[in-house]
Amino acid sequence: MLGNFCYSNPTRLYFGEEALGYLREELPKYGKNVLLIYGGGSIKKNGIYDQVVAILKENGKQITEDAGVMPNPTVEKLYEGCRLARENQVDLILAVGGGSVCDYAKAVSVSAYCEEDPWEKYYLRMEEVDNRIIPVGCVLTMVGTGSEMNGGSVITNHAQKLKIGHVFGENVFPKFSILNPAFTFTVPRYQMVAGFFDIMSHILEQYFSGEDDNTSDYLMEGLLKSLIHSSRIAVKNPTDYEARSNIMWIATWALNTLVEKGKTTDWMVHMIGQSVGAYTDATHGMTLSAVSLAYYRHICPYGLAKFKRYAINVWGVTAQGKTDEQIAGEGLEKMEAYMREIGVAMGIGELGVTQEMLEGIAKGSFIMEGGYKVLTQEEIIRILQESM
Ligand code: NAP
Ligand code: FE
Repeated sequence: MLGNFCYSNPTRLYFGEEALGYLREELPKYGKNVLLIYGGGSIKKNGIYDQVVAILKENGKQITEDAGVMPNPTVEKLYEGCRLARENQVDLILAVGGGSVCDYAKAVSVSAYCEEDPWEKYYLRMEEVDNRIIPVGCVLTMVGTGSEMNGGSVITNHAQKLKIGHVFGENVFPKFSILNPAFTFTVPRYQMVAGFFDIMSHILEQYFSGEDDNTSDYLMEGLLKSLIHSSRIAVKNPTDYEARSNIMWIATWALNTLVEKGKTTDWMVHMIGQSVGAYTDATHGMTLSAVSLAYYRHICPYGLAKFKRYAINVWGVTAQGKTDEQIAGEGLEKMEAYMREIGVAMGIGELGVTQEMLEGIAKGSFIMEGGYKVLTQEEIIRILQESM
């Protein structure tokens, strides 16, 4: 049964090869001062920077640049961005990049006018935003996180060995996002497939929860099938527009709040993966792939009916003459074969995790209660050991 909910998504999306042109329609809605946020320079190499700056100038905007946002943005970088936003009285934050740049833009948007330490208020204590919020717009260049149409913002604090995501409310969602699938063609293969697995994980972590008949589960099975199909094409031919455009849209729907409505959700793989990230700074999607199989094999007996359904509906496992355990197990084997085929990380050892880190990683994994089994610290350590 669907639970009670309110659904609305305030982000205006422009999708397709002509999408960037619609920046011209959005810019007049905001004041003169724009904070242009981007990462380590990929947008300068592929020409997206020049296109964006030309449109900003054409609209008479005063541009302040905040470059060098690292993958897995840090709290120190956040403090720097807040200072820039305040000093330049920024009216609009324009994020041009992947999830790290979009997440960081949202963090600056809520933190610039926060009167206390935003790390403590918004990440450690997860409080609601009660100060001025600077509006954010995104030009997405890398697919996976769904950050272009959600309130998620993940910040890493290396000193505290914590990587925390705050899921902010609608007032923090990007006001608009520009999605041109061709902008993702230059993403390096490792990042591209990590993004594919991030999408898969977002869907699975909402799918593997609850035992009711819920229309969201049917939607997610469709998204998964389309993702598996298109990602196989994209790894062979990264410039296949059809595949990349489908994947870009799947990523958005995987985490723009629609499929979670009326459902319980799990999110334990993200909690463990983020803690692995806090210790290693590894690529987000790879931290998820590296722990997923051990996690799902561990919880499968507690959610057997759903794992059986997953095997049949998503992976095409035939049921005849098999036990439920065999069917569910075959589904996870097919998932494993697919992961090896697209080339994601299959263990945390290859991401730099050592035995000595396991206890700390387990402690830094926030325990969620919506999945099929509420894990103990010992179970997390066992899952991490199996993921080595
Ligand atoms: P990312 O960290 O934004 O980008 C990864 C790399 O890809 C960067 O080195 C970037 O280089 C490069 N890149 C991006 N676009 C490119 C392009 N078009 N051509 C060439 N290179 C390109 O990756 P991401 O996976 O999108 O974001 C990861 C972060 O998002 C993590 O911190 C993760 O925890 C968080 N996350 C957020 C949510 C959410 O709901 N908001 C959900 C899941 C994960 P440059 O720096 O040079 O641009
Ligand atoms: Fe993610």
